[in-house]
Amino acid sequence: MDQLEPMPQDWTRALAIAAHPDDLEYGVSGAVAGWTAAGKDVRYTLVTRGEAGIDTIPPAECGPLREAEQRAACAEVGVSELEFLGHADGVVEYGLALRRDLAAAIRRHTPDLVITANFHDTWPGGGWNSPDHRNVGRAVLDAIGDAGNRWIFPELVAQGLAPWGGVRYVAVGGSPQATHAVDITDTLDRAVASLDAHHAYLAGLGDNPMAHTRAFLEWMADLNAPRFGGRRAAAFELYRM
Ligand SMILES: [Zn+2]
Repeated sequence: MDQLEPMPQDWTRALAIAAHPDDLEYGVSGAVAGWTAAGKDVRYTLVTRGEAGIDTIPPAECGPLREAEQRAACAEVGVSELEFLGHADGVVEYGLALRRDLAAAIRRHTPDLVITANFHDTWPGGGWNSPDHRNVGRAVLDAIGDAGNRWIFPELVAQGLAPWGGVRYVAVGGSPQATHAVDITDTLDRAVASLDAHHAYLAGLGDNPMAHTRAFLEWMADLNAPRFGGRRAAAFELYRM
């Protein structure tokens, strides 16, 4: 079994981009907690408010509720900058509108590391991924080139968003093709607290194993341990840009 390499440390600002509230809490936030504790700047951009995520709560009510839960989740892991791009949950389309919005976010935040979530067809273990995740993750990778090129989306330059070509790495959490990892032994409690902040969402999951937050995050971290010196870890597929 291929061993996972330690994540690069030569970066100062990360922008984590995901489709929905809770995506980053299922597997990435333990690593974020360690990074912010070490003084790194980590910010979150969410493409939707997750308003279609709870069967019993209509979207108009659910969106603001999930936004508030995400703010609480961020506070648990030292993330103070959070923004929502306002795309419609469940029907996020890959295309120019999404690439433009993501390129704008990358230019606003000028990260050297971009973090996103699994965009492959399947999850580790083989389960089918969702269209929002596939479309957002692929657009994030593509938008990094867009962010650095002043001639793509010239309207962004007109809005005062100068090109940003400083992204050095993209780290994809929850990927079935993980290459790197972060030891989260000491931050697992904070990861659980960040996921627990999604009260209404978790209540809506009922008996789903994903509602058992500590057990689920421990199971995920333990899956990576045999490839990372036996340590509980968050795993990433790393791209060097
Ligand atoms: Zn999601």
